[in-house]
Amino acid sequence: MDETDPSALPFPTSLCHRCAAPPKYVRTKTSTFILCPLLPNKYPPQPVLRCGLFRPKPPEGSEGAPP
Ligand code: SF4
Repeated sequence: MDETDPSALPFPTSLCHRCAAPPKYVRTKTSTFILCPLLPNKYPPQPVLRCGLFRPKPPEGSEGAPP
């Protein structure tokens, strides 16, 4: 399973999945948490629909893809 596939992640509508921050996905046996590296509280209430720190990820192919 592709871990960058939002459908495989919690809160598919969250802005975090499309953010250049980039968020880290912290997996436990039962859940996946979205850790934001920019916010002081690290775990914003999900789904994040608006975020002042949001920056769009670079275009498809320039990140996350194998070389
Ligand atoms: S900056 Fe905002 S949108 Fe980006 S990962 Fe953090 S909480 Fe999510």
